[in-house]
Formats: sequence, C-alpha cells, structure tokens
Amino acid sequence: ITGKNIALPPGVAPPAFIQLGIDKVNELPRIQLLNIMTVIVVVIFICKGLFEYLKTYLMSDVSERVIRDVKNDIYRKLQDLSMDFFSHNPTGKLMSRITHDAAVIRDSIGSGVADTFSQPIELFFYIVLLVGLKMYGGVPWSFILVSVVVFPLILLPVVRIGKRLRKISRTSQEQAGDINNMLLETISGIKLVKSFGMEDYECESFRKKNQEYYDLTIKSIKKMKMVSPLTESMMVVCVAAILWIAGRSMISGELSFGVFAAFLAAIFSLMKPFKKLSNVYGINQQALAAADRIFQLYDTPVSIKERPGARKLEKFTESISFEKVWFKYEKDFVLEDINLTVKKGEILALVGPSGGGKSTLVNLIPRFYDPVSGSVRVDGQDIRELDIRSLRDKIGLVTQETLLFNDTVRANICYGHTDVDEKQLIAVSKAANAHMFIKDFPQGYDTVIGERGLKISGGQRQRIAIARAIYKNPPILIFDEATSQLDTESEKLVQEAINNLVKGRTVIVIAHRLSTVKHANKIVVISGGKISDSGSHEDLLRKNPLYKKLYTMQFAEGEEAGLEP
Ligand code: ADP
Repeated sequence: ITGKNIALPPGVAPPAFIQLGIDKVNELPRIQLLNIMTVIVVVIFICKGLFEYLKTYLMSDVSERVIRDVKNDIYRKLQDLSMDFFSHNPTGKLMSRITHDAAVIRDSIGSGVADTFSQPIELFFYIVLLVGLKMYGGVPWSFILVSVVVFPLILLPVVRIGKRLRKISRTSQEQAGDINNMLLETISGIKLVKSFGMEDYECESFRKKNQEYYDLTIKSIKKMKMVSPLTESMMVVCVAAILWIAGRSMISGELSFGVFAAFLAAIFSLMKPFKKLSNVYGINQQALAAADRIFQLYDTPVSIKERPGARKLEKFTESISFEKVWFKYEKDFVLEDINLTVKKGEILALVGPSGGGKSTLVNLIPRFYDPVSGSVRVDGQDIRELDIRSLRDKIGLVTQETLLFNDTVRANICYGHTDVDEKQLIAVSKAANAHMFIKDFPQGYDTVIGERGLKISGGQRQRIAIARAIYKNPPILIFDEATSQLDTESEKLVQEAINNLVKGRTVIVIAHRLSTVKHANKIVVISGGKISDSGSHEDLLRKNPLYKKLYTMQFAEGEEAGLEP
C-alpha cells in the first residue's frame, strides 16, 4: 500500500508458485490491492466465525450424544444385573456412574477430543512450514532439530502429571459416589435421622466427606493448572535458546531478517498446539479414569442368565420343589440341603427365627439367585432351563418393604401393563381391601402417591402392593412377612385381603405371626438354614418344641405388639 514491492531476502529461493504469487501481488494497482485485502479479511473472519460455531456446536452435539448413549447403556446394564450385584453395590454409588462419571466423560469430549484431533493437524502444518523454511530459506539444521526434537521432550513432565491426575481422579470419583450415596440414604431416611436427633451428626459426616472431595479436587486442579504454565515456561526456554543462536547468525550475516521473522512466527505458533495438547492430556486422563469405572460396570458378568433357547413356562400345573438346595451369599451357607415340595393349590407357610433363611428360600423361586448346588423346579423343570420372564410372570410377590413409585395409584397397581383393565383394577383393589380407601383419595385412582408413599399409611401401602401383585393374576403368590409392619387393625384388613386371594392359587407365606398360618396346608420350620420340621399346625404344636415355643411366646407377649418370634 505504501507503494513498495514485496521483496524476498537475498539467498531465499522459494518454490515457483510462491514467486508467482508475489509477482502477481506486486503487479496489482495499489487501490485494487487494498480493496481485495479488505474483502479477504472480512470473508476470512466470517468464515472463521462460522466454522468456529460449527465446530463447537457439532462437538457439543457429539459429546451429548455419546453421553446420552453411555447413560442408556449404563441404565440397561443396571436393569440387567442380578440381585447379588445390588447387594454388594450401594445405590448412590451406582447412581453416580450415570450422573458424575458420565459428566466427566462429556466434558472431556467437549473440550478434549476436538483438540486431540485438531491440534496435531495444526502442529503438522507448522512443522511443514519449518521444513519449508529450512529448504528454501537456509535456516540452519540446529533450529529445526531443536524445534522437532526438544519440543516433544517438554511433554514428558506433562505425561507424568497426567498419570498422577488419573489416579487422583479415580479416588475423587469414588468419593463423589460416596457423597451421592450418603445423600440418597439420609434424604430418603430423613425420618430416621430426625427421630434419632442425628441431624448434626449427619451434617458433620457430610461436611467431612465434602471436605475430602474438595481436597482431592483442589489437588487435581493444582496439578492440572500447573501443566500449562509449566509447558509454556519450558518452551520459552527453548525458544529463547533458538533466538539466541538465530540472533548470532543474523549478526554474523548468515541469516536474513525475513527468514528469521518467518521462522520465529512458526516457532511461536508451535507453542499453541503444544500447550493445548498438554492440557487435553490432563483432561483425557480424568475421563479415562471415569471410563474405567464405567467399563468395569459394563464388564460385570450377569450372574442370573437365561440359557440360550430357554423354554417358556406356559402354565403352572403341578408343583414347586426344592431338591437338595444349598445356597450361600458369601462364605457361609445360608440354606443347607433343602428338600421341599409345594403342590399346586396348596398354602405353604414358612416360620422360624429371624435370619433362619426364609426370605432367601423364597427368593430362589423367581430366580433372584441361583442355588450353589441342587435345583429349584417348577413342574419338574429346573428353573434355570426356563425363560426368566415367563417364570416371573407366574409369580406375585409381596414383601415387607413396599416400594410404591411416585406415580398414580392406577400406574402403581397396573405396573408392567400398558393397557389398563379398569374392571380388573377395581376387582383386585377390592380383593386387596384397597378400593375403599382409594376411592376416597382426592383423585381416586389418579391420585399421585408421594415419594415412597409418604402420603398414605403403611397398611394402605401394603394393600396397594398386594393389589399390584395380583393384578397380573399370577398362579403363584409369595408373601414375605407382608403384614409384619402393620398395626392390628391394618393387619386384619391385609390378612383378610390375603385370604381373599389365596383361593385357587399356590401360596407361600412367610409369617411372623403363627396365628395367621394356622390354616396353611403345610407349615415348615426353618432355622439355621435347615428345615427343622414340617407338618400341620396341630402336628407341630405336638411334636416340635421350637414351634411350640415360638407359638406360646407369641401368645404370651407378642400377639398385640406384633413381635417377630
Ligand atoms: P429370614 O428371612 O429367615 O429372616 P434371611 O433369608 O433374610 O432370613 O437371611 C438368612 C441369612 O442370610 C442371614 O444370616 C442374613 O444375614 C443373610 N443374608 C440375607 N440377605 C443377604 C444378602 N443380600 N447378602 C448377604 N447375606 C444375606
């Protein structure tokens, strides 16, 4: 624009196309050159903005998609895992896989992956530029060597810090899981916390956990934020050394200023991708720690698996039997050599001291666990040979802990059914002695039950759970101490509901009150993981001292209080 031509330093022999370009520019009238340059600058920056937008938008889209899929996969895996997995892994920790760990991966993809791919390209471009300068500009070999050999050495400490970061991340993710778990337990158990006056204690332990998490996070931030200035300082040392050597060559006249300036620009430009790559390395290490944990979950084998080609259980026709069943959760056997048969239409009652193994025994029927040895058979078929869903379809289970979802009464009772049969819904609710209170709810069957059923009484919850178990009309019903938490009045209603339902079904009932099982066809006493006796109520009263003791004890003190024998 000042009227001077572009001139190359003496001794520089660029490739023909560059020379051609320079000549073209020199030939242009100055005003035209100004016009072209103005337009080019605007176009370039508009393009830059557009591509930058596209890059961030597309990368965010990619990271959000990845994380959506990862979350779906984790959730699917959690649904597929067997009961034993859940008894070893606290809920809150599992939740933090979906919330916290997945987020760490997302952040890394958002900020890291793009740079992991784009920065090496930039780096390559600058290296090509350096090589070009060497070839056509007479830059000494020592410069090139320093730039392509010494620069990568700078990355060594970065790698070391990255490894430490990965370790710290693993622990801090573990702690995030702990915090999550604590939140879950104390918020859902807030009543317990309050009733024991443990608010301060819980606050203190939360504060401690939170502090530990903070300490670790800060530790990792300290390391992470060190990476960038560290690489920069080390690079500046390299660049200064090069400058010094180059300066000397310029003073002695070996190197022209033009080449030197281009070289300098290339070297400084090299620093940016280097710095970014070293940063990304740290972020990626954190994400890898999170990915490790997620993959560990993916790789957990599902212990209760269906055999390929498993047969569907179309109908339950004959019996459920336990044949020489041994079972343990961890090291001690909880069930030892159980042999037991319940015929279709029979009522079997399981009684015995707490911890004897009654719940464990009934949990083997829907195949929540598999026996260590022996087999559970339905109609003579080992249940491991059966299609799991078809087996569970035949079983209605009511347990002591009645979990109701935060949804309408209707959705809770018809859980698992997409088409609601209103007639059936009312019929089962009536049979479960639930219709009478549900119809008085503000919106009847459309009333939403508060979290964990807080808005309704224990007895009502239990009766809704019973209605849910029978809505699908299963031929086999299992009641696992279904009435143990209730007051006498509610218990009477629930018991009545149970009596309404047992007709025509095969029922296994774990009972804490012996008076409720008198009409069972068979009563089995289980203690210490073994069947210690069986027979009718009268038989057992006559011949079994443990049963007699449980029975008389209950009449002496437990009947009203509802104590477990
Ligand atoms: P009951 O129903 O007769 O009270 P359970 O079947 O619940 O007895 O328990 C039998 C034994 O198995 C107890 O010693 C109990 O501690 C143990 N147990 C129950 N569930 C688990 C589990 N998920 N993991 C480990 N041990 C368990």
